[in-house]
Amino acid sequence: MIKDKSKALYDEALDYFPGGVNSPVRAFRSVYGFPLFIERGDGCRIWDADGNEFIDFCCSWGPLILGHNPKPVKEKIYEALEKGTSFGAPTAYGNELAKLILDNNQYIEKLRFVNSGTEAVMSAVRLARGYTGKNKIIKFEGCYHGHVDHLLVKAGSGLATFGVSSSAGVPAAFAAETIVIPLNDQAALTEAFNKYPNDIAAIIIEPIPANNGLMLQDPSFLEFLRLKCDENKSLLIFDEVISGFRIGFEGAAAYYNIQPDIITYGKIIGGGMPVGAYGANKEIMSHIAPDGPVYQAGTLSANPVAMAAGIAQLQACLAPNFYEDLENKTKNFVLNINNYCASNQYPVKLFSIGSIFWIAFTQDESIKSANQIQAEKMQYFKELHAKLLENGLYVGPSGYEVGFISAAHSKEDLAQAEKVICSCMTAILKTTTV
Ligand SMILES: *Cc1c(COP(=O)(O)O)cnc(C)c1O
Repeated sequence: MIKDKSKALYDEALDYFPGGVNSPVRAFRSVYGFPLFIERGDGCRIWDADGNEFIDFCCSWGPLILGHNPKPVKEKIYEALEKGTSFGAPTAYGNELAKLILDNNQYIEKLRFVNSGTEAVMSAVRLARGYTGKNKIIKFEGCYHGHVDHLLVKAGSGLATFGVSSSAGVPAAFAAETIVIPLNDQAALTEAFNKYPNDIAAIIIEPIPANNGLMLQDPSFLEFLRLKCDENKSLLIFDEVISGFRIGFEGAAAYYNIQPDIITYGKIIGGGMPVGAYGANKEIMSHIAPDGPVYQAGTLSANPVAMAAGIAQLQACLAPNFYEDLENKTKNFVLNINNYCASNQYPVKLFSIGSIFWIAFTQDESIKSANQIQAEKMQYFKELHAKLLENGLYVGPSGYEVGFISAAHSKEDLAQAEKVICSCMTAILKTTTV
């Protein structure tokens, strides 16, 4: 594969940006090579600066549920663009997207648009603190909630203890307000509430943890979170930045039939433009400025062009059988690859839910917490990643990242990708024992 133009662009970018990138996951630090510079996308395919073609399973890390450059989204963006890009005043597009969401989502009654998933989470945490008058937040090891100071925190030593920041620049005092416990561990959660009975403002969780592999939780664990929040007058925040509009229009809340107190959205909601949102019932949302004392604002919030993209994309998601089709395609894709790997006794398994999948080099039947993931196995992903790229498949450049299947991935595209993945698995696993 010729990568000369990407290489030249990357060398240039190294002069401009730390690590040559504007978001660290793009940097290819845990795989071979350097970032490919993408020139364009169409349907499920992307082309890099050298003209190499790939079937794309990264899909911009999740937002592109219709694939690249879908006509209805493009046309709606053009329509909005004709009228101007931003006014710093309300537009009908914001109402239209909000109505589309609220009419079809029984888990929130009001929402506020922001510009990213990080901003949605940051605002939701502030709202939970403002609403409850408490400070501490419980998060789970292996869940990612954007680069919010208080949530860039990993477990300290011992269960239910203070977290320690996982990034320089986060004061220890901030990290001390976050309690980090393992997923799927009811005892640790109970211990945390026993230790800080009056201090916990909220539990925040990715109900479908998909940022550190795909760690599907027992429904009973999620129900337990609801129960503990109710008992302790704490709020339950579902961070649905990935799962929202992905697992179904109403996301994980509907999938598990659990009513969270606050839900955060991002990714799909903006149709490929930078949009996030957080929502709750009317009473909780009345605490947000200007109705209430919790301040939150944004110069470009509910940007009309971004709202237009979201409207067109979410309308398409409401088509009959949209999510069933995506899920069936994904199940079939994963099953075929798993069957192939099992019949060859390769110690690798694909996990999936809805249209999210994860390639795990494991023999475990399920992975529910971060400590089940063996870091040394990521070497196999690194080998696989290079082979997939050479053979025209683009997946996120880290073994901890999930893949996404879009409505634009046809059965034929997926059959082609299955063949490539299976033969690449053989290439890397046949002579080795993982
Ligand atoms: C992507 C993601 C975020 C952060 O969203 P950005 O738009 O990247 O700021 C937060 N939470 C979850 C669950 C995510 O997947």
